[in-house]
Amino acid sequence: MPDPTKPVTLADLDRQGKLAWVYCNECGRERDVPPRDLGLPLDTPAPEAGKRLVCSACGGRKVTVRPELYPGGVEEASRELKRRRRARHKAGPGWQIGVLAEDQRERAGSWLTGPRS
Ligand SMILES: [Zn+2]
Repeated sequence: MPDPTKPVTLADLDRQGKLAWVYCNECGRERDVPPRDLGLPLDTPAPEAGKRLVCSACGGRKVTVRPELYPGGVEEASRELKRRRRARHKAGPGWQIGVLAEDQRERAGSWLTGPRS
């Protein structure tokens, strides 16, 4: 079990076979990256890693790094969301993204449901 009192490090993600979710707060681009591909020491805590990265698209420095939010990464989550939306049309109202926390759900709405640029 990971120690919940310590921030997750890139090494933790690597060990667990998880991706690092990298999000640019300036332009909204996001990617899931293998932790080793970030080019940072693996003992870097994920929140710290964000401070050391620069967005390659806009040069923004407000980058957030977290453990992957969704199994398989955001692209997979996006596909899954579309699948579920189709299912929702059949199932009727009442469906929601139950696995996401409230704030994630809110943001997932703006990230994952709009057209991707
Ligand atoms: Zn950016």
